[in-house]
Amino acid sequence: MGKAGVKGFSLARRLYTSRTLGLSLGLLCVSVAMYPLNPAPWVWGLMLFNGLLWPHLAYQWARRSKAPYHAEHRNLLVDAFLGGFWVAAMQFNPLPSATTISMMAMNNVAIGGLRFLLVGSVAQMMGVGVGFLMFRLAFIPETSQLQLYACLPLMCLYPLALGWICFRQAHALGRQKRELLALSRTDSLTSLLNHGAWKDQLEVEFQRCQRQQRGGAIALIDIDHFKAINDTYGHVAGDTVLRQLSKMLKQNLRATDVAGRYGGDEFCVILPNLPLASAAAAMDALRDRFATLGYEQSPALNVSLSIGLAAFSPAHTDATLWLNDADQALYEAKTTGRNRVICCCSQHEVLDSV
Ligand code: GH3
Ligand code: MG
Repeated sequence: MGKAGVKGFSLARRLYTSRTLGLSLGLLCVSVAMYPLNPAPWVWGLMLFNGLLWPHLAYQWARRSKAPYHAEHRNLLVDAFLGGFWVAAMQFNPLPSATTISMMAMNNVAIGGLRFLLVGSVAQMMGVGVGFLMFRLAFIPETSQLQLYACLPLMCLYPLALGWICFRQAHALGRQKRELLALSRTDSLTSLLNHGAWKDQLEVEFQRCQRQQRGGAIALIDIDHFKAINDTYGHVAGDTVLRQLSKMLKQNLRATDVAGRYGGDEFCVILPNLPLASAAAAMDALRDRFATLGYEQSPALNVSLSIGLAAFSPAHTDATLWLNDADQALYEAKTTGRNRVICCCSQHEVLDSV
């Protein structure tokens, strides 16, 4: 089933509840207004059909349709047409007519916006026109007290029900929006922040360090000879290594540290409020632990990490310069033998921490 079909089904379900309530309350309002006019039996029949049977028929019609969304729009036009018809049949009795028209306008604008309000109004006018032709053209200028009371349930309960439906829909949309946002910021393989989301956090941390003149460090972590691991043990084993590293990062970092997958076999960590020496010790412990990790499916597999570290410095005019320092340190770790942590100090001087 296509997106339009799913959307149509959920619209049909939503409208089923509101239509059943609205039209049964509408039946009370219209029938009390029609009673003094002595309507013909077929008019009573049509009133009962519209108030009690039509909501179920409309739902089944939309549900069985190949395009439920369009079927529901057609049903809404039928609602509007019949609403207009009953306004003319009630001979424009002020309160029941205004109640019928305003409830339908509220319904149409809630479902299809201004465009559907206009289309619905045209259908209502057509209903009024047909009512004009079928009933004596007359105008009842007053609403009796009984007719007023018969309108009250529709006036009070229907807006409440529609408001509740709209609220629930807005709530569900808000939740879906948050879920989508989280998905768009997450790396699907490791569940860590993805490249873009981590860089956003880096920018936040950079601003904080600048504002508060407090230290912090960032680390770029790269798996050594990962291509060879993929080639020798297969990509599934490669994926397991990537997941293991992300798991180890989650387990061994502080709650305030921010880990992400920079891309491919490269990971990145923000270590706020941590002197470079402590950050280096933490990263070296991680490197050490990862090197001794065993893999059930590939017992011979041994994986080492190269890590580049850089401390924040007031000399960094933007976050990219800070990241460049970490990248430079990582390059140094790779070119000086791998399986090590290298620190790049703020003066761009490279120090070996191990
Ligand atoms: P070095 O020690 O210099 O880092 O060597 P390397 O082989 O790790 O470096 P390189 O960047 O050439 O290799 C990274 C490899 O990671 C290449 C790519 O096929 C692989 N890779 C990237 N993303 C994934 C992934 O999601 N899963 C797996 N299994 N492999 C990936
Ligand atoms: Mg690598």
